[in-house]
Amino acid sequence: MVRTRVAGLLQAFLLSAIRYPLSAVRSIYWVTRVKVLIIGSGGREHALAWKVAQSPRVTHVFVAPGNAGTRLEPNTTNVDIAPEDVPALLAFAQQERIDLTIVGPEGPLVIGVCDTFAAAGMRCFGPSRHAARLEGSKAYSKEFLQRHGIPTAAYAAFSRDDFDPDWVRQQRAPLVVKADGLAAGKGVVICATQDEAVTAAQDMFAGRFGRAGDTVVVEAFLEGEEASFIAMVDGTHVLPLATSQDHKRLGDGDTGPNTGGMGAYSPAPVVTPEIHRRIMHEVMLPTVAALAREGTPYVGFLYAGVMIAADGTPNVLEFNCRFGDPETQPIVSRMRSDLVTLCEAALDGSLAGAEVDWDPRAAVGVVLAAGGYPDSVRKGAEIRGLEAAAQLPGKVFHAGTALDAAGKVVTNGGRVLCAVGLGTSVRSAQRQAYELVEVIRWDGMKYRRDIGYRAVAREAHSG
Ligand code: AMP
Repeated sequence: MVRTRVAGLLQAFLLSAIRYPLSAVRSIYWVTRVKVLIIGSGGREHALAWKVAQSPRVTHVFVAPGNAGTRLEPNTTNVDIAPEDVPALLAFAQQERIDLTIVGPEGPLVIGVCDTFAAAGMRCFGPSRHAARLEGSKAYSKEFLQRHGIPTAAYAAFSRDDFDPDWVRQQRAPLVVKADGLAAGKGVVICATQDEAVTAAQDMFAGRFGRAGDTVVVEAFLEGEEASFIAMVDGTHVLPLATSQDHKRLGDGDTGPNTGGMGAYSPAPVVTPEIHRRIMHEVMLPTVAALAREGTPYVGFLYAGVMIAADGTPNVLEFNCRFGDPETQPIVSRMRSDLVTLCEAALDGSLAGAEVDWDPRAAVGVVLAAGGYPDSVRKGAEIRGLEAAAQLPGKVFHAGTALDAAGKVVTNGGRVLCAVGLGTSVRSAQRQAYELVEVIRWDGMKYRRDIGYRAVAREAHSG
């Protein structure tokens, strides 16, 4: 009965397609229209929502929970669900018949949001809980890297019970001490001496980063220049995205404490074609192949933070199982291809041969942070100048922002905005980004004045 109805519909469609080819094309087009859910509330998620909403195939974008920036975008609605409330996210996606969910932050990935969605027959772009351990546990990822001969710093992992201060004192300083679990980018301490490293490890065991510090990695300090290498992965194939570099330190000249990231730019000239080839062949491809062989194939954005040594060796500092923040903002500002179609191709395992079309211009994103960041941040300050910024070239992505009762945009987190400029050189992209910054202000606003300086110096050097 059902089969004859389907056959009848198909016959009617084919007949009308012969008579009205244009409307047939249009109806296929409508069938492939999609509703998208983005999980998260930061600058990365605003940039993803903004990009996805530009797809001609997308009817509506929902962001859970989003921020004031996503709230004000056309065709985009915030949904008041926390990123780690997986049952509520699934119920919403089913009720709204969401066709594609894209996960921004690592938290929901590490607790298995994509596994839960997949089990319910919903398409969710991101790695499984198992594959996300690459970010969720530094001890696991170091052991994985070592086992597969992927370049990384020499290390040892300790639990509270088997910690060996004498071993640490025998290593050459400086040393890097890392909490095993997720610590919002703050669980890494660079130690100038062995004694500092012992103290840092003991602090972690004492609960400085909660349960994330139950296991601690102590590793050799690596010299070189850092780059972010981000790709889309479909289980077997690796589609590299445009290169980028971020600035993790709070102060100009890469000084002061580590933060979630004070700015980023794309492309990163440090990733020359030869370095690109080495990262693909020595890091990305072996990682994805090993995960597939071990029965935990990786689907999603895969981010390798690498330290490029003087001889060009790309040593892995860390893996992230998601797009970077703030790298997403400049990278998607340059992306011309349809991100929805790329995510769908990855979920179908068909990224082989896919290519991404990039705006050849450079993009620079400057993060504007709240007073007190990265320690205690002041919330609720009114942000002025957003309307003026909207009249200028470039784009201001929101991160920690909210609308107050009067509908004004106020600060609501540490990293508040990311102003992205584009230009034919990193220098001109930087200029455009800072022109946006100049018209924005609130009480306590702070930012770095040198985002992209390494690339600008390289440009000046190469003439
Ligand atoms: P991670 O979260 O592991 O990427 O570490 C945060 C930051 O600490 C990195 O972006 C580096 O700037 C720095 N870092 C981490 N590991 C090392 C290392 N072995 N040598 C030098 N710097 C490191």
